[in-house]
Amino acid sequence: MNIHEYQAREILESYGVTVPRAGVASTPDEARQLAVDLGGRVVVKAQVHAGGRGKAGGVKLVNSPDEAAEAAAGMLGTNLVTHQTKAGGVPVRKVLVAELTDIADELYMAITMDADARAPMVMASSEGGVEIEEVAANSPDKIVRVAADPLIGLTAYHARDIATEIGIPINLVRQATALITNLCRVFQELDASLVEINPLVVTTDGRVMALDAKIAFEDDALFRHKEVAELRDPEQNDELEQKAHDAGLAYVKLDGGRVGCMVNGAGLAMATMDITKTAGAAPANFLDVGGGAAEDKIAEALEIIVSDSDVEAILVNLFGGILRCDVAARGIVMGVSSTGTQMPLVVAMRGTNSEEGLQILADAGLNVTTVGDLGEAATALTQVLGPTSSNGENS
Ligand code: GDP
Ligand code: MN
Repeated sequence: MNIHEYQAREILESYGVTVPRAGVASTPDEARQLAVDLGGRVVVKAQVHAGGRGKAGGVKLVNSPDEAAEAAAGMLGTNLVTHQTKAGGVPVRKVLVAELTDIADELYMAITMDADARAPMVMASSEGGVEIEEVAANSPDKIVRVAADPLIGLTAYHARDIATEIGIPINLVRQATALITNLCRVFQELDASLVEINPLVVTTDGRVMALDAKIAFEDDALFRHKEVAELRDPEQNDELEQKAHDAGLAYVKLDGGRVGCMVNGAGLAMATMDITKTAGAAPANFLDVGGGAAEDKIAEALEIIVSDSDVEAILVNLFGGILRCDVAARGIVMGVSSTGTQMPLVVAMRGTNSEEGLQILADAGLNVTTVGDLGEAATALTQVLGPTSSNGENS
């Protein structure tokens, strides 16, 4: 789960990390008032779940409260498109108004979970304020990597090493060491999957502070952090992905395909994608209904698949284990009737109560082709989709 910069900034502050004084505004007038309170010279920043705002016009440095209001007016209510957003961008409902910081040096710092090290990994660089992918590609030696001990956290001497390596002036190393250690505490104590500060800055008046703040959290650990879970902003997510998430379903949108896939289990999802490609088409999405989905969940899954405007045919590939095929079939019938869709359905169903399930589908008089295995599914898909079109590719 992602949160906004203004929320991440507050978390950092509560962990003793130095951040610029700031407030959040929903209207140009609020932005003006904040700028007055902060002394006039401020930076106005669009609050969206995406980076790259600077280059996209979502970060404006201004010299007066009126300019702050003007900058806010230009952002609020628009959709911001950055290289990290989908084509339509994401809505800007709030702006952060922060006192302008005079920067001496921009650095980079991030913590992620490293699967190889099986530990939180601190990555830092003297090259901040730019895309870290660029630094990694052009000058990988400029990135320092240090694993934190999962049990005792990052030791002070490791933090000191990192600070020195990325060129923190010697008189500020103590300050930087505290900041790095505190960032690691945020990561570990709140079960984050990413804490990224780009840029981390040294100011002209000798302070080390987090000028930008990105924190993402492990979804599976959110139950331990109710106050974090409450920071979710559904509006920043893809609408269908959000709907699926709320229903406890895993939905993944894929580019360029025209087959909607309903499956249960990740392995079956992969096999189903392969088969769709064998049929000369490509998946527009897949929706994993998981183990014991009830009738209404299956119906909801079908509704979500049908809502994807790229979908021209639906491939249902289910294995009845804990999920019973008759329950799934009733859910499919329910979903087809609630959406009124005429889209062709190709259904492979095996396992618990599969015969009953197939019978339910046959009796419902749907536009359905039932098949015995994935090979037959490929053939059936080719028939319902017609000749392969040029958009049948998303490999
Ligand atoms: P991002 O582009 O979405 O990552 O947004 P950032 O918050 O990182 O801001 C982008 C860039 O704007 C930073 O790398 C800085 O160069 C600049 N910037 C942001 N805030 C300030 C500030 O207070 N003072 C100055 N001088 N530059 C700033
Ligand atoms: Mn940034």
